[in-house]
Amino acid sequence: MHELGIVEHVIRTLHDVAEENNVRRIGSVTLEVGEVSGVVMDLLTDCWNWFREKDDLVKGAELLTETIEAVTVCTACDKTYRTVDHGKTCPHCGSKETYLLRGNEFSIKQIEAELFDDPEDGEPETE
Ligand SMILES: [Zn+2]
Repeated sequence: MHELGIVEHVIRTLHDVAEENNVRRIGSVTLEVGEVSGVVMDLLTDCWNWFREKDDLVKGAELLTETIEAVTVCTACDKTYRTVDHGKTCPHCGSKETYLLRGNEFSIKQIEAELFDDPEDGEPETE
């Protein structure tokens, strides 16, 4: 459900961007996904593959993802560590006074327009 909402959001964003830039088809989209964002990649890909076939703009478009490593900062000793390995407890001093520095984000990093000039597939530019 979460992933479905994300894909819908991504596709809506792609439509906005495409409209602004006169893009008629998207070749690929790259997402940045934090390690602890809770997004399940397999589900995300499944949703994407299902959705893209229903939408001319993104039909056949590739979904690429880049993982952002989650990092937590300890306020007691000012050191950082990998969130995935140690959770909320600082491995340097044992403090639990920590907060997530990054790794919870989800964003569209890059959109690649597919350039194609198929005269049969659309109206010619009149302006
Ligand atoms: Zn610490």
